[in-house]
Amino acid sequence: MHYPMVRKGAKLFLPSVFVTEHLRVHFGKAVELKGKALTIDKPRDNSVMTIVLDPGHGGKDPGAVGRKLKANEKDVNLAVTLLLKQLLEKELGLKVLLTRSDDRFVSLQDRTRFANDKKADLFISLHTNASKNTASKGLETYYLATAQSSDARAVEALENQVVELFEGGSSAKSKYDDLSFILSDLSQAEHLEGSNMLATSVQQNMVAGTKSMDRGVKQANFYVLRGAFMPSILIEMGFISNPEEEQLLVNPEYQERLARTIFEGPKRFKYRYDRIRNT
Ligand SMILES: [Zn+2]
Repeated sequence: MHYPMVRKGAKLFLPSVFVTEHLRVHFGKAVELKGKALTIDKPRDNSVMTIVLDPGHGGKDPGAVGRKLKANEKDVNLAVTLLLKQLLEKELGLKVLLTRSDDRFVSLQDRTRFANDKKADLFISLHTNASKNTASKGLETYYLATAQSSDARAVEALENQVVELFEGGSSAKSKYDDLSFILSDLSQAEHLEGSNMLATSVQQNMVAGTKSMDRGVKQANFYVLRGAFMPSILIEMGFISNPEEEQLLVNPEYQERLARTIFEGPKRFKYRYDRIRNT
């Protein structure tokens, strides 16, 4: 501070810049100096109560299709989502809402709109990966940002294809591309830290619990994560294009294990954020 604190008897006086410059940085507009009176807003409840789970693809959009068993990504996503929902409800008492609970098509925009309308505290999108190279394997967890590595860009292109294939072609794509990106970029910026923490926790637990290859936590620019006003992640639970991983992904026991390990992510997130705090 540019001015010293002043002691008068038992009272300690702080310079007003402490409030206007220092407290403001950490507490925002919650702290205000009116004349000589300092007012502090009631803290906001940041606890995690509602989660939206988003099983990727559905209906006319099968997602990626396996080579050996011809398994559809949409079915794997839904199966793991339903198991994860049970865990979150039973063990954490959370309100869990699904963007789809059966085999139907839901546009990417409607998925995040749903999460915003329901005032969800977290948004988790579940997918399986695919590659032309059938040897590609392993787990990845993404949170929204501009894609950084060429691998991340390939996955981004794969998951964003749904817009071009099923939602009205290039005009639909440009609709997602300009305005919505600017808006969602702003909305996600304040949740980057939370999204990163949630992604890291999910990824670590999945890798430890399944022994699958760790491809890391990555940033990419998924339409489905854009416009979500809450910490949001997208999980690639393995490569359906890899015959060995396809076999695992359709196995109910392996699906259970995936759900159990993904569950640890939001569980830890909830423990960390379930407290009243100022923002
Ligand atoms: Zn997908």
